[in-house]
Amino acid sequence: MNAASVVHNGSTPSRKEEEVSLPAIPVAQSPESKFREYLASRPKPQRFTEQQRQLLEHIFSKHRHFDAEQLIDELKRAGRQVSRATVYRTLPKLVDAGLLRKIELGNRTVYDHDYGYPFHDHFLCEECGVMIEFQSASLDSAIREVVHQHQFRVRSRTLVIRGICASCNAAKAAKRRLVM
Ligand SMILES: [Zn+2]
Ligand SMILES: [Zn+2]
Repeated sequence: MNAASVVHNGSTPSRKEEEVSLPAIPVAQSPESKFREYLASRPKPQRFTEQQRQLLEHIFSKHRHFDAEQLIDELKRAGRQVSRATVYRTLPKLVDAGLLRKIELGNRTVYDHDYGYPFHDHFLCEECGVMIEFQSASLDSAIREVVHQHQFRVRSRTLVIRGICASCNAAKAAKRRLVM
């Protein structure tokens, strides 16, 4: 079973927005109640704030990949009163709580939904910055096999394949044809 979807990461405003997400997984709990539970279960229980509520509502309103600065911009544009400090303090907690997944891209740290969204890997286009999601059952089973061989206990997995996406490839080919 293979599925792919394209989610723009916001770095290419000129390009037409393509927003095809993988089908959401039904969850018993809302992200908010899952996060409240996480905060309450800390060795030193923490209080759930109105800013955090706004932040969660915004993050889980739509599936996309984002970095902290993009999120801060979006919150501002959406007229939400969430401070920069709250964003930077809360993102690691959302990862720890199992709500978000962190993807290190070298110069950027991108966040992706982890809760209520199927596990997937990514292609990263180095031309336009688009992140393309894909799922591959045969890749998953090959990884399970090597993990078993090495008696390794997996905590997380991040696979990012870098290159040039199909539409950038097509644009390059069209340009070449014009030159010739
Ligand atoms: Zn591209
Ligand atoms: Zn993703």
